[in-house]
Amino acid sequence: MSSISASASEFINAPTTAPTAAPTEEVFSPHTSPHIASEAVPSQPLPSPQTPLTPAITTQHSKLWRPKQVLVTPDAYEEAWGQQIIARVQALGIPVTRLSQNRITGLKGKTEQETYAKAKNTMAIVNAPVGQLKLTPIPPSADWQFHLAHGCPAHCQYCYLAGSLSGAPVVKVYANLPTILENLANYEKENQHTTYEVSCYTDPLGIEHLTGSLAACIRYFGTRKSAQLRWVTKFDSVDSLLDLPHQGHTRCRISVNADPVSRTLEGGTATVEQRLQGVRKLALQGYPIGLVVAPIMAIANWQTHYETLFNQVSQALNFECDLTFELITHRFTPKSKEVLQSWYPKSPLDLEEANRSQKRNKFGGVKYVYPKDTMAALKEFIQSQIDARFPNAEILYWT
Ligand code: SF4
Repeated sequence: MSSISASASEFINAPTTAPTAAPTEEVFSPHTSPHIASEAVPSQPLPSPQTPLTPAITTQHSKLWRPKQVLVTPDAYEEAWGQQIIARVQALGIPVTRLSQNRITGLKGKTEQETYAKAKNTMAIVNAPVGQLKLTPIPPSADWQFHLAHGCPAHCQYCYLAGSLSGAPVVKVYANLPTILENLANYEKENQHTTYEVSCYTDPLGIEHLTGSLAACIRYFGTRKSAQLRWVTKFDSVDSLLDLPHQGHTRCRISVNADPVSRTLEGGTATVEQRLQGVRKLALQGYPIGLVVAPIMAIANWQTHYETLFNQVSQALNFECDLTFELITHRFTPKSKEVLQSWYPKSPLDLEEANRSQKRNKFGGVKYVYPKDTMAALKEFIQSQIDARFPNAEILYWT
C-alpha cells in the first residue's frame, strides 16, 4: 500500500464548473457489475476535434434531474464538500432542509409506489458510512469499487440496484468526498496499475450538476501515477468534464442498448444518440472511453435491433480512439424481481423464470440468466458486430 502523495482536498478544492442554468425539469432513469483488473493506464494522442460526423448530427442535451427537495444531515452540513453541494443546489433554486439527525426519515408513502415516487424526487446530502472506507473488489469491472453516492435519479425498469440496495431509493450523495478520495491511495500497489469503479451504486453523471463530485474524482485520478478511474452513465451532460486535467487516467463509459430496450425501459435517461454524442466529445478530449452494452436482451428481432445500435455507434465514433466494450446479458434475482415489480407493475420487462436458466453463486444465491443456446447466439452475434466495426477495440468481458 502506498502513502498519499498529495492531499485529496487539493483536487476537491480546485474550481468546479458550477451549473449555469437551472435544469428544465425532472427526469426519470448500475451499472457495472462486472471489470478488468490491471487495465493499463492509456496514453494516446488527442483525436482530431475536426473529425466530422457523417452525417452531421445535432443532438440536444437531455434534461437534467431536478429533485423536488434536498435534505442535509448535521454531519454532512459540517463538511466543506457538503457546503459546496448545498451552494450548487441552492443556485438552482431547489429547497434545502437541514435535518436534526443523521437519519433520513419521512419518505414512506402509503404504498410502495408512493414511497418510490417520494424517494426518487429527493436528494439527501449525507456522509458515507465509515464501512465504505474498506473497499471491496468488483470483478470483472475493476480492482476496487468506491462510491460518491448511493441511488440514482433514473428509472430503468431492470435496474440492478433494485436487488442490491435496501430501503427507499432516495439519492444519497456523499459530503465527505475528500476522506473517500484520500483513502483510495491505500489500495494502490507499487508498480502496478490499480483500477477503481465509481458507478456501482449510482449514475455519477446523472447527479454531477448537483454535486461536482465526478469532476473532483477525475482531477484526483489525474494526479495518480498508476491508478485509473472508471465510470459509466446513461446521461450525456459531459461539458463540465471536457477540460479537466484527466491525464488519460479516467475511462468514461456509456451504457447503450437496442432501441426498443432503451426507449421502453430506461426512463429519465438521455437517449442512446445523446449518450453517444457525449462519449464522442469525451473521446475527442483524449479520454479513454468505453461502451457497456447492457443489459443485452433477446427481444423480438434482437439481431436487427443490435445491428442498428452498432451502426449508430460507428457513426458517432468515426475516428480512432481508445475504446473498450463490456457486454452484459440481462439477469435477475428473486429479490430484484420482487422489488422491480413493486416499482414498475406495468413494465413489459420479461422476468419469467421459466424462460431462463438458473445460476447459483458460491453463497447459494440464485440468478436467472438466458439459457445456454440463447446466450451463445447473442454472444456470437454481438462480438461479430464489434469485430467488424472496431477491430482495434478490446472486448473486456462477456457475462
Ligand atoms: S441508470 Fe438505470 S440501471 Fe443505472 S443505476 Fe440508474 S436506474 Fe439503475
